[in-house]
Amino acid sequence: MRMYDLIQKKKYGDELTRHEINFMIKDFTLGSIPDYQMSAMMMAIYFRGMNEAETLFLTEAMAKSGDMLDLSAIKGVKVDKHSTGGVGDKTSLALAPMVAACGIKVAKMSGRGLGHTGGTIDKLESFPGFSTEITVDEFIDHVNHVGMAIMGQTNELAPADKKLYALRDVTATVDQMSLIASSIMSKKLAAGADAIVLDVKTGSGAFMKAENDAVALAEEMFRIGNNAGRKTIALVTDMDQPLGNAVGNVLEVKEAIETLRGNGPKDFVDLCVAIGAQMIIAGGLAATEEKAAEKIRMSITDGSALKMLADFIAAQGGDADYVYHPEKLPVADIIEPVLSPVSGYVNKIVCDEVGLCSLILGGGRVTKDSVIDLSVGIVLKKKVCDRVKVGEILAYIHGNDSEKIKEAKERLLNAYTISRKKVRTPVLIKKIISGDDINDVHR
Ligand code: URA
Repeated sequence: MRMYDLIQKKKYGDELTRHEINFMIKDFTLGSIPDYQMSAMMMAIYFRGMNEAETLFLTEAMAKSGDMLDLSAIKGVKVDKHSTGGVGDKTSLALAPMVAACGIKVAKMSGRGLGHTGGTIDKLESFPGFSTEITVDEFIDHVNHVGMAIMGQTNELAPADKKLYALRDVTATVDQMSLIASSIMSKKLAAGADAIVLDVKTGSGAFMKAENDAVALAEEMFRIGNNAGRKTIALVTDMDQPLGNAVGNVLEVKEAIETLRGNGPKDFVDLCVAIGAQMIIAGGLAATEEKAAEKIRMSITDGSALKMLADFIAAQGGDADYVYHPEKLPVADIIEPVLSPVSGYVNKIVCDEVGLCSLILGGGRVTKDSVIDLSVGIVLKKKVCDRVKVGEILAYIHGNDSEKIKEAKERLLNAYTISRKKVRTPVLIKKIISGDDINDVHR
């Protein structure tokens, strides 16, 4: 088989077989297919697309290019959750303990990544001593004994995707729906869970800005997951304003703890309940959304979710006392209010601008070697639809450098649109894609 012939085939819009896709991914990972040929293939796929079968074959080939985690030693249904990410998205920190407290086994691999704040792992490292550098055996042991564990993503997880993504990034071929879907799902399949719940964000703070693109991506990943034999459910949710009130590592950890104590912001609680309910259903612990949501809410009320967080932190070497005393977590030197220049209703908050403020303050990574300031960020006091009076506090900026605070403050103020007319409350859960009525791909 020659890569040249496969490029030619895709260039004319023909379908690649499983055998051809396996050859292409295996030899590219080994280095015997050069980057220039794979770049040509990515561009051919960009213009010609891939059908459902090709997308599944590509995803499975990339998943199998490295270690496939075997979680069969964990008793019960293992349910994973993935978010395409956004501003103030601290969902895993609160949601994983909630569903684990309900009896779902949560075995999660997370990353750090670039962005306006750190990833889940960076946020969890606010707890002194906490580590995600654990062996697979320890990971399995923690899930069996505690109910949940989070492990750092290894280099051996879908290495073909890592290599291919680096190439797509420099050849303008990232934004192709089937390539995005197979990239995300290859890592999810390799991570070994029986069921996967996807949170695809849409809005100005999301990777998928337009709702119809987010729905298309959600549907594509839903089909891949189910065709690969993993029960998959996808939600499309709002990211047109930050999720919850806190943006920034420690600030988000504190908000997650407050949520587990029963004092979370409404939108964040509602999102955790909606995703958690789907995880409970996928794990077979409830048959209806109402019953599943009730279980999630109960895990907050009876304190079991907060205890689960403490047990999980302790099992992975962290000081669980911080869960009960979050005031011990690092605090920024300067906390400055941002005041409203006018009276009216908050009409819009440009979400990615709020993320940029966090980045300016030092809360995120610009390059993969950047050091994150865990204490900085923004706490919103007014969100879309809220009434505000002139001089009232819109938000607080937490920072350690007055120049950076000044810049962030200006940007944050510009991110707000305040008008005399009240807008409609944004719809948080835009779509839930579930059910078994998908067409089986010819395998
Ligand atoms: N995230 C991924 O993991 N892959 C993509 O292709 C895009 C976003």
